[in-house]
Amino acid sequence: MALSQVVGRLIGVREHVVDPGDDGAARVPRPLAAVVVGGGIAGMSAAVVLAERGVDVTVLEAAPTLGGRLGAWPEALADGTQRNEHGFHAFFRQYYNWRSILRRVDPDLGLLKPIPGYPILSGQWPTEEFGKLPPAPPANLLALLLRSPSVRLADLRGMDRDAALPLLSYDPVRTYAEFDGMTADELLSSLRLPDRARAMLFEVFSHSFFNHEAEMSAAELIAQFHFYLLGNPEGLAFDCPDEDYATAIWEPLTRHVEQHGGRVLTGTAVTRLDREPGGWRVTVTDGSSHAAGHVVLAVDPPALAALVAASPGLAAAAPRLVARMPAFGQAGPPYAVARYWLDGDVRADRAVFSGVSRQPTLDSVTLYHRLENEPRSWAERTGGSVVELHAYACEPDVPAEELAERMRVELTGLWPEVAELTVRELRARVEARAPAFTPGSHAWRPGVRTDADGLYLAGDGVRTEFPSALMERSAATGIIAANHILRGAGGATEPLRSVRPRGLLAGRR
Ligand SMILES: Cc1cc2nc3c(=O)[nH]c(=O)nc-3n(C[C@H](O)[C@H](O)[C@H](O)COP(=O)(O)OP(=O)(O)OC[C@H]3O[C@@H](n4cnc5c(N)ncnc54)[C@H](O)[C@@H]3O)c2cc1C
Repeated sequence: MALSQVVGRLIGVREHVVDPGDDGAARVPRPLAAVVVGGGIAGMSAAVVLAERGVDVTVLEAAPTLGGRLGAWPEALADGTQRNEHGFHAFFRQYYNWRSILRRVDPDLGLLKPIPGYPILSGQWPTEEFGKLPPAPPANLLALLLRSPSVRLADLRGMDRDAALPLLSYDPVRTYAEFDGMTADELLSSLRLPDRARAMLFEVFSHSFFNHEAEMSAAELIAQFHFYLLGNPEGLAFDCPDEDYATAIWEPLTRHVEQHGGRVLTGTAVTRLDREPGGWRVTVTDGSSHAAGHVVLAVDPPALAALVAASPGLAAAAPRLVARMPAFGQAGPPYAVARYWLDGDVRADRAVFSGVSRQPTLDSVTLYHRLENEPRSWAERTGGSVVELHAYACEPDVPAEELAERMRVELTGLWPEVAELTVRELRARVEARAPAFTPGSHAWRPGVRTDADGLYLAGDGVRTEFPSALMERSAATGIIAANHILRGAGGATEPLRSVRPRGLLAGRR
């Protein structure tokens, strides 16, 4: 354990148990059926826990492959088939619940390899490195303030320190009560940070939540600053699989669910949901249906709103859920992912993953041929490289190929050697499926439990009462949904963990 983690533990910055899990039967005492709609992280996490406890669980996934926004699928290229993915993902070390699901198929988590460094690239300022900070607060914060060229002592004097206090004082109730009406942009402006610090430290961070700062709740920014930096003993360092997500995650998790008696059906979109005596009827595209006492809706926000709208019976069965859909179903801005297969390599000292600050479109760069085995072999065979570019919150109504080209051109300004490389293949996508965290959204954000018996929600837009975000929130809400079902049926529930529940200075304000 690093010294900063020892100091952090003394002030309560450690893994916290949110729910120790109830004693109950290792397998539910009576036959019980559950349907999980959506085979992303949230749905598969729920299915893993339910199947292990002997619940007869069926996962219905609309796409031909599992994984949702962490999906992977075969892609035909001119020189053979390669797996493509929905985009690079950082598996942070405080993702305790997601990691506990992954441990089912890989107890030592050997599938995750540490990524050395986390540089932020900028056209205006020299690259800054964030991956090598001490892992835990307060040492990481002090190191950030002392080491980062973005923050000079003179600048700190000019900063509004009172305005910065809320960042250190996250409280799951008070932070939302006080700051959910403000935008992240307003909060950052009130700090009076030097422009460089704002760009290099905060903007890159807030973009990673798929929302524009001017449209994102300040409370959500404070919560995420706490979850990723100030309440977390694991640091900003992260790990990634060195195989594609289908090989590393989805195929083993599917086998695990099936070995426990569950079913995973892909290419099966749910078209409506009806209440019937004793439970629910879930209808799929071919008109067939599944009956179950319990249903977990683990789909992205626009898909949830569409499914609720196509299920007229929910107006009576779950009126509060229906009332929340017009706001919840609005996704955040579009995000773009472009994977380039190039005919040569970038400089040897370029990092596997880099964040990008203040480019009009480009937010991150990943060198897949230095990350995953299949692209590595392709690059060794061809002398090329596989480079993925992301924009996390981009302009609406711009075609994917145009966004891909804008990102490539922006990268040539940061890494000039890219201009010399010829594009052999490009796969570009633009989608809007991430939850919006608009100001005021906390009040109407639904939790896992709905107002209808036996109907639950899971996903990264669903509210949790403890710090969580992105992949970790999906896994945690999937587990919570499974726990509600198990608790009612006398089955043992799953423990849940998170970081320090409140900020270091919460309660002092
Ligand atoms: C480019 C990109 C990069 C990211 N990077 C990171 C990162 O670095 N770290 C991190 O923590 N998170 C990251 N995320 C976020 C992360 O991917 C999501 O938080 C997480 O995968 C969401 O999982 P989910 O199960 O909640 O939803 P989804 O993955 O959206 O799964 C929902 C599933 O429901 C299915 N579905 C929808 N409608 C129906 C229907 N009617 N019937 C049946 N199935 C249906 C969908 O096909 C989908 O498979 C990133 C996301 C993107 C897009």
